[in-house]
Amino acid sequence: METKRIAEILRQGNPGDSTRVQGWIRTKRESKGFSFLEVNDGSSLANLQIVLNGDYPEYEQILKTLTTGASVEVEGELVESPAKGQRVELKAAQVTVFGEADETYPLQKKRHSFEYLRTIAHWRSRTNTLGAVFRVRNACAAAVHQFFQERGFLWVHTPIITGNDCEGAGELLAVTSLDLQNVPRGDKQAVDYSQDFFGKPAYLTVSGQLEAEVMAMAFGNVYTFGPTFRAENSNTSRHLAEFWMIEPEMAFCDLEGNMDLAEQFLKFAFKSVLEACPEDMEFFNKRINDTVLATADNIINNEFERVTYTDAIALLEKAPDKFEFPVKWGLDLQSEHERYLAEKLFKKPVIVTDYPIEIKAFYMRVSEDEKTVRAMDVLAPNIGEIIGGAQREERLDVLEARMRSHDINPEELWWYLDLRRFGTVPHAGFGLGFERLVQFMTGMGNIRDVIPFPRAPESLDF
Ligand code: ATP
Ligand code: MG
Ligand code: MG
Ligand code: MG
Repeated sequence: METKRIAEILRQGNPGDSTRVQGWIRTKRESKGFSFLEVNDGSSLANLQIVLNGDYPEYEQILKTLTTGASVEVEGELVESPAKGQRVELKAAQVTVFGEADETYPLQKKRHSFEYLRTIAHWRSRTNTLGAVFRVRNACAAAVHQFFQERGFLWVHTPIITGNDCEGAGELLAVTSLDLQNVPRGDKQAVDYSQDFFGKPAYLTVSGQLEAEVMAMAFGNVYTFGPTFRAENSNTSRHLAEFWMIEPEMAFCDLEGNMDLAEQFLKFAFKSVLEACPEDMEFFNKRINDTVLATADNIINNEFERVTYTDAIALLEKAPDKFEFPVKWGLDLQSEHERYLAEKLFKKPVIVTDYPIEIKAFYMRVSEDEKTVRAMDVLAPNIGEIIGGAQREERLDVLEARMRSHDINPEELWWYLDLRRFGTVPHAGFGLGFERLVQFMTGMGNIRDVIPFPRAPESLDF
């Protein structure tokens, strides 16, 4: 007899089929002559209902072991279900309990707050919401590879441990083999890095971009998809200390091509997830945020808005809303400004381009006006920034000058500058936070609830 996944049984199983399932009991209802078990194996939001007849050998005894949280294997025959919303249920002929669970199992109640569930992160995948989140996350990850592979992009693996800090954003997590117990925090001078594993300070990567540029200069179109680390000290609902980033990089490409790719990718990702996880997406719409399906529809069917930073500032200056942070040409957009543009004004994703040179990273392509760079941020309703990207500066002299003005020693990035010395080309790319995308899709309020084991300040229990 074949073991089947519950999702498949609920979709395609027919009365009369003999089958075997394996999973965990969600609930049990006992009545006189028979009992019902709701079993879930993670393959779908819906449980399979198991009917255990009173004439099952040692019925009373086995029933005691069939508790919420217990792991079971059930063999039997599918029968038509009289219950609403399900076609079939499984009449148990043989029940095996692998592991019992007593009443201290923490998921007894139907609903728990997400805050509480974070304290039992090792159990929360067995809840409806987190189960749905991680299925969507999986479908979205598969869509990432499908999208780029179909377009001939090479998946490249950039290093996790690096000696450069990419943008000098100061959010680095250090990696060391030294015993730093007695070194005052932040006192670099007190550490003798010549004794360290690499002989110099090493960090977890904050972005694979610079290395992805190297690969793009050989393969044309590449993408990375891997873990990224930032010591974010702000306790927001959009920042993690460990998150996954998707970073395509394209040679012979300008900002317009970059924007087109970002828009096409987001459309593709939403479409793929709706196809792969329709029940989960409906669940989010019903239980988490009733704009989830409308948002997906909006993304798939409408063109994104594209405005320059200069125009965005003018629009924000005219806004009836009172903002906490000032709006002024030259200042970066804050999350409240980003959300005003995407949520209130345009009611769809907005791509803001051509930011002031002073507020953006050294590697961005300087425009003819020399006041702006060819940067782009994609702003999403309810989230704010989900993508940051740019056309890259391909001119050696301009790039060197920009590094100096950012206090970056060109010698340290000699290999990066080499790319401009030999066979340089216009190129562009972006970084998309994978968790922000999943958050955007599912309507989940806190980014810590879309990754299995969230990393955040003072939180490393799992
Ligand atoms: P923010 O302004 O939200 O801090 P950023 O401008 O610092 O983001 P980028 O360096 O542009 O971020 O990185 C590209 C993308 O990576 C962002 O648009 C976002 O989707 C994602 N991202 C950045 N930092 C984090 C984080 N700490 N946790 C989760 N995703 C992040
Ligand atoms: Mg940031
Ligand atoms: Mg930003
Ligand atoms: Mg950014």
